[in-house]
Amino acid sequence: MHPPTPHWSQTSSQLLNACPRAWAATYRPKPSGVQPHHQAVGTNVPRTLDQAIVRALRRTWLDRTRDHFLSKAWSTKYREARLMAHLETLMHHSAIFAPAIHVEMAIQDGVRQLERLEACTGLRPVFSKAPSRWAYFERLQSAALGDTRLFAAPDMAVYHQHRWTLIRIQFRSPSLTTEARQLEHLLMVHWAMRQGGLPKDHSAYTVKVIRWTANRWVEHRVAVTREGMAQSMALVEHDLAEMKWMLRSAEADPQLHNLPLAAKESTCVSCHVRETCPAKNGLKDARERQEAAWRLLAQSAETKSARTA
Ligand code: SF4
Repeated sequence: MHPPTPHWSQTSSQLLNACPRAWAATYRPKPSGVQPHHQAVGTNVPRTLDQAIVRALRRTWLDRTRDHFLSKAWSTKYREARLMAHLETLMHHSAIFAPAIHVEMAIQDGVRQLERLEACTGLRPVFSKAPSRWAYFERLQSAALGDTRLFAAPDMAVYHQHRWTLIRIQFRSPSLTTEARQLEHLLMVHWAMRQGGLPKDHSAYTVKVIRWTANRWVEHRVAVTREGMAQSMALVEHDLAEMKWMLRSAEADPQLHNLPLAAKESTCVSCHVRETCPAKNGLKDARERQEAAWRLLAQSAETKSARTA
């Protein structure tokens, strides 16, 4: 039986690049034969108060855009209540405990963050004027990509000045972004070009990223060029080839003994499969043991081939 075709999502790609073993443990088919959902169990569970508040902010923002689309106004009190409700649910389901004062501070900061978001330049056509057309999307909406699915939906698409601007909102972001991350943003265009009702030509789009870094919203555009579009698709194809290879490896080695471990110890800190990983008591030791096992394997293969020669 061939392993199923993996999907591409930012979560899956980031996990693959951070730790192939954790990726395989998360996304390989379950014994029942069921292929994991793109937001596989485990990767999607917040583990800290900050992870929970980021998730709650995203859910509250989706509620807000949905209501705004229906012309329902929100007060600050209502925003706070929605955020609190989402945070409490997430903390309850993820068994996260935090002092009440920390939760209260997270809520107050979150409300301010949401209010400031609406004042961003990129969202002005939506919140202060009446744009001719705009739409919001959920990240669960995928696009067909050959025999696989691409999860790269923008948060919003706004038709303004004869173009569609695809907007990605990041509620937490490092101060510096990489070139690979910029290419990932262009996948929103690939996604949009595969949706009914949106243009099929990349030149009809602009891409805007609004990200929260160092306590403020920062906005930047990503140039939508033919070359960038090709490079972003190459990135997906490269990831998918790696994922297929990892699935084949996991099928041949169900204990995942030979799959590469994380590149950085920090990845292990919040890993949801840490308890079953040889790195549970330290990544450095686990890597040394794995490399020693590989050396032994290579030596015994060399001895065997010398005997048969
Ligand atoms: S504990 Fe570390 S090495 Fe092990 S699967 Fe998790 S991230 Fe990878």
